[in-house]
Amino acid sequence: MYRFSRAMYRDLSAMLPRSGAVRPELAERLLLSACERTVERLARDHRRFARPGARLFRDVRSLYPVHVQLAVYDRIERHMADALEYLDQEIAERGSADLLRCQASNRKGKACQRVPVTGSKFCPSHRHLERVETASFAA
Ligand SMILES: [Zn+2]
Repeated sequence: MYRFSRAMYRDLSAMLPRSGAVRPELAERLLLSACERTVERLARDHRRFARPGARLFRDVRSLYPVHVQLAVYDRIERHMADALEYLDQEIAERGSADLLRCQASNRKGKACQRVPVTGSKFCPSHRHLERVETASFAA
């Protein structure tokens, strides 16, 4: 689940204002801790965590200029929907939610840290690997 919050953090930190920002490193730290808090709580007790996306948005919206807040909210909601879907799937299939990450390795040979695409074992960057698997089975 930690990887989930990293993916969301990366996504949302790319949307932080770059020019004229006061202490951008502080904004990034606040954003990271808010993402981690939310995802950790989601992993612990998602059935009793009402509207996690709205909660996270409330925590981080002040870091963004008004004209991008709607896009930020939309991004958060999509991450949360994915996270919830995976949690439900993992819990149903394995009785735990420990395997929520891409099955591929990065160029340095380490496990990819990104969150898989819904319905796939791979993240968007590694999704082509799934097509290769499918193709070799068909041949
Ligand atoms: Zn990947």
